[in-house]
Amino acid sequence: MIWLPLKDRMQSELIKRGHCVGCTKSFSEANRHSPEDYSEIEIVECECRRIYIYEKKLNSYKRATIDELTRYGFSTDPDGIPVD
Ligand SMILES: [Zn+2]
Repeated sequence: MIWLPLKDRMQSELIKRGHCVGCTKSFSEANRHSPEDYSEIEIVECECRRIYIYEKKLNSYKRATIDELTRYGFSTDPDGIPVD
C-alpha cells in the first residue's frame, strides 16, 4: 500500500464516493461539461469552483489539473480554483 497523508486519503475517499473534497456536495449536483473532442470524459464543476474530471470508461472521478483543463479546451481562471 502506498502511504498517503491522511488528508489526501480522506479526499480520495470522498472523490471515490462521488463527493467534492471542498464542500462535500455530490457530483450529481455539479455542473457537467462535455468537451467536444473528448467524448470519453466529462468536466465536473462544483459550486465551490473545484473542478473534477469524470472518466466514463472507468466510471471514476479525479481532481482536474490546469494542464488537463487546457488540453480539454475548458477555459477557466486558474486563480479562481481552490487548491486544497
Ligand atoms: Zn465543492
